[in-house]
Amino acid sequence: MTQPSFAFEPHATPVEASERAARIVNPGFGRVFTDHMATIRWSEDKGWHDAKITARAPIVMDPAAAVLHYAQEIFEGLKAYTLPDGGVALFRAEQNAARFRRSAKRLAMAELPEDLFVASCRELTLAEREWIPAGEGSALYLRPFMIASETFLGVKPSAEYLYCVIASAVGNYWPGGAKSVSLWVSKEFTRAAPGGTGDAKCGGNYAASLLAQSEAIRQGCDQVVFLDATERRWVEELGGMNIFFVFDDGTMLTPPLTGTILPGITRDSILTLARDQEITVREERYSIEEWQADAASGRLVEAFACGTAAVVTPIGKVSSADFSFQIGDGQPGERTQALLKQLTDIQRGRSNDPHGWMQRIG
Ligand SMILES: *Cc1c(COP(=O)(O)O)cnc(C)c1O
Repeated sequence: MTQPSFAFEPHATPVEASERAARIVNPGFGRVFTDHMATIRWSEDKGWHDAKITARAPIVMDPAAAVLHYAQEIFEGLKAYTLPDGGVALFRAEQNAARFRRSAKRLAMAELPEDLFVASCRELTLAEREWIPAGEGSALYLRPFMIASETFLGVKPSAEYLYCVIASAVGNYWPGGAKSVSLWVSKEFTRAAPGGTGDAKCGGNYAASLLAQSEAIRQGCDQVVFLDATERRWVEELGGMNIFFVFDDGTMLTPPLTGTILPGITRDSILTLARDQEITVREERYSIEEWQADAASGRLVEAFACGTAAVVTPIGKVSSADFSFQIGDGQPGERTQALLKQLTDIQRGRSNDPHGWMQRIG
């Protein structure tokens, strides 16, 4: 398949306009789905084939399908926005396409060509443009994913894959629109080890993080933050968000991409925006001891988490079995709020886009 072309099989009974409008007013995160989905299949003999946009429907598969047993699955998350003039744009979709390919390679899956990935996101978004919510902080969240669909219980890379994109009208990621989040430092569990899959966006990483996340909730925190698996010292990231620190001399720091951290596109965008303003941002290791000491001395003034779903979220408090400390005054910091505004102004087409991050699709 060289020229991506998607067969369109419209939904016979799409959600009525008035019902759709009601559902997207205050959609929350990840519960309101659109009428259609995009699918493409891959097999050893045919390669990529059968690209289509069809009614969103359950995926029927054999109970011996490889993904159900060995978790050969990867995914992405990106957003489509409406622009002030009524147009529609995707944010850095080609970066998601490239990462999806790298994830596929790491999980020994078929690599979807990047133009097909972007085309699937574009075609689905255009089919569902009426579902894009308009409110500040809302967007159409696209969830491309790929599963091993071969019916076989032997352990080997699947000979068949199903790639699919679904779309969800989303508002604020945090229930009640939290102003800042509290973190629980997991001492017992790690997310990713050197040589593992920490830098691939695969469901298995999330499955492995859920017990630590439950522990965080049980301890009264919002999210878990993971330390490195080797020394259990260096701050890595949250279950699904990267982390930044802001110091009293105006510099910033984020942990380096050494293979155990997911290379976030929001992380990269924040790095770029900060460096555009000549803010020094170091990509360096930062230990939990330093974090605690810097918060106590006042050298650390802000910290925030970032990712496509929750965008930029201030971190107010950090706890573990043997300590608990606040960051700054526990309220969203100035730098955090400025970067959030700069990023969302670009995404909503309210400011110029010097790096060409927004791809207008309609
Ligand atoms: C998706 C993800 C992120 C954030 O990546 P973005 O491209 O910014 O959305 C961070 N950490 C993990 C583990 C992730 O899965």
